Amino acid sequence: MIDVKSLLPDELGVELQNLGEPRYRAKQLFSWLSRGVRSFDEMSDMPKALRAKLSEVFTLNAPRILRRQDSSDGTVKLLWELADGESVESVVMVYKHGVTVCVSTQVGCRMGCAFCASTLGGLRRNLTAGEILDQVIFSGIETGQRISNIVLMGIGEPLDNFDNVLQFLKLVSHGDGLNVGMRHISLSTCGLHENIDKLAHLGLQLTLSVSLHAPDDETRGKLMPVNAHGGVAALMDACRRYFDTTGRRISFEYALVNGVNDTPEHASRLAHLLHGAPYHVNLILLNEVAERGLKPSTSSRVKAFTDELDRRHVNYTFRRRLGLDIDAACGQLRRQLTINS
Ligand code: SAH
Repeated sequence: MIDVKSLLPDELGVELQNLGEPRYRAKQLFSWLSRGVRSFDEMSDMPKALRAKLSEVFTLNAPRILRRQDSSDGTVKLLWELADGESVESVVMVYKHGVTVCVSTQVGCRMGCAFCASTLGGLRRNLTAGEILDQVIFSGIETGQRISNIVLMGIGEPLDNFDNVLQFLKLVSHGDGLNVGMRHISLSTCGLHENIDKLAHLGLQLTLSVSLHAPDDETRGKLMPVNAHGGVAALMDACRRYFDTTGRRISFEYALVNGVNDTPEHASRLAHLLHGAPYHVNLILLNEVAERGLKPSTSSRVKAFTDELDRRHVNYTFRRRLGLDIDAACGQLRRQLTINS
């Protein structure tokens, strides 16, 4: 059976034609799916016989809410159960300029970053394009918000699930569906540089966020096993090519980990690394994950680090931390569920 939510209108059209149905139904079907129906029978303006036929050839899944946590700052964290019983998280954040949803791209992760909760149980499986899309659709329905921005920063490594993530991007930005423009979408990667090149060639107008977290191989290697594959140099080369091809400025994520990547020396190396490149650095404090034994930098260390960045005119912002009272960091809700069950 085909997962109906992973198909674009054109692809639905082909399937409909194979069923002896008119192709124009594809647009109608696609738009119903984008509205979060849970069965073909809810598609009230489709002929009954067609609905029956559709349910014979397609699967139509929808996630179920396992847990919802509301933060005092308005952030909502949602834990979803998927059709096969696996679970993933999404986070809805309300900003002045709109509502952003952070979605997961895999069940678990195999990248092994030393600070991250999502990778603790390894990778269970990739999400389908439809399952990624569902997080956007149902986060909107569950919170009653119109989602204007999407970040692929939840559980999983988006570029390790390249084809499904690409299909998701096409689905979510389609004019007959949710119609979220690429300029309102950010994709965050731990730095799989070959796939950054692959993405660059597609020329999408999305924002690429790169989880850098350290300016040199020694420090980055301690935090991120993926660094062994080409190191910081190969990553920065790919970032440069990404900018040259797409014209889109890259965002570098840097989580301050106490005593690991937060000395003025690190700050100065970071400044050298990025010198002359069109970029933006997003500094955040590490969110402490109990199992990981790493701590967020103390405020005096943060000050010494950012003073050095200021001296060297590095273009950075210190990201506002949302949802701290609800463990909104990376994979922590799913982790709790896995531990408790
Ligand atoms: N796999 C992708 C996207 C998911 S993680 C990536 O690596 O970019 C989203 C962001 O949260 C990444 O920048 C990641 O490094 C960061 N992150 C993970 N665990 C964290 C923690 N405990 N504290 C702060 N940031 C964390």
